[in-house]
Amino acid sequence: MNEDPMTPYSAAGRQKERSADYYSAAKRRNAIPRLAVVVPCLNEEEALPILNEKLTGVLNRLTVEGNIASGSRIIYVDDGSTDRTWQVITDLAGQMAGGIRLSRNCGHQEALMAGMETALPDFDAVVTIDADMQDDAEAIAEMVRMYSEGADVVYGIRRDRSSDSWFKRMSAKEFYRMMRRLGVECVGNHADFRLLSRRAVADLMDYSERNLFLRGIIPLLGGRQENVYYERGRRAAGKTKYPFLKMIDFAVDGITSFSVRPVRMLFFIGLAFMLTALGIFIYVMVRHFSGETIEGWTSLMLSIWFCTGILLMGLGIIGEYIGKIYIEVKRRPRFRISDKI
Ligand code: UDP
Ligand code: MG
Repeated sequence: MNEDPMTPYSAAGRQKERSADYYSAAKRRNAIPRLAVVVPCLNEEEALPILNEKLTGVLNRLTVEGNIASGSRIIYVDDGSTDRTWQVITDLAGQMAGGIRLSRNCGHQEALMAGMETALPDFDAVVTIDADMQDDAEAIAEMVRMYSEGADVVYGIRRDRSSDSWFKRMSAKEFYRMMRRLGVECVGNHADFRLLSRRAVADLMDYSERNLFLRGIIPLLGGRQENVYYERGRRAAGKTKYPFLKMIDFAVDGITSFSVRPVRMLFFIGLAFMLTALGIFIYVMVRHFSGETIEGWTSLMLSIWFCTGILLMGLGIIGEYIGKIYIEVKRRPRFRISDKI
């Protein structure tokens, strides 16, 4: 029997009874953390050796300087690669690095969750970083410093994105603007390069939804959240794993998994139609009684506007209920307790 109060966290086991022990275990915060660096990899055979050297260097330095505990490790997550990625990970595995392999391509966000869940029992803090070295691994030092000062979440924020294409910059900017308008708080210029304390990771595992959009969920975790700024570089090797269509997919996921406002808009469009129908009613009647109309026009005009209005409002009302169901089935935690005495 494992007495570790953290063990309720298995892939499926969540929302278990929680004792005060759980809170102290999740909060266990060593000023010198045992750090896991989680790297999602999809066909990154060229990038991995370069990244590994860099990360090993950073982790070694931080260990020697006494900022992280020995036993800190890199965890590679092979997200169903079809090239030699797993072979490369196997070769790199040893003192500093290990890996897990997903049985198929599950997606970037899922790969991150898999890596973090794997790290949860044994590490005090987790940094997630892309395999392509676009994020500056040196920023990890600053993240760890902020963790030691009590932060639960440290976001890596790109100072400028001049290394990304014009299109990627524009689309990202518009996307985040739209998200904010739809009522979803996202941290600007932040991708999935961040540090999470063990507690934040434990809390994150309670978000059991299938459509994962971590950038929207992590701000909901609360606790102390800080920023670290860095320069974003170019991809070290290989091609982007987010081609255009996949990017759109990701954006749609982001919007629809956080906001039911698009559905609600239907109701208001329907309302606008009904109001217009009123105006049309007056107009049509005037024309009708002045005898300038063809037979049947009056009733057609009225029914088109009126019926469309009613239909849209009806859809909006149904949508409102579906939206409620949608929010319910996600079973997101209602609140998080941050202390208990
Ligand atoms: N990735 C993954 N699974 C996927 C897509 C991407 O694990 O289905 C990984 C990829 O290997 C990389 C990270 O997610 O480490 C981010 O992808 P990429 O750098 O290609 O995205 P971009 O920076 O172009 O947005
Ligand atoms: Mg990249």
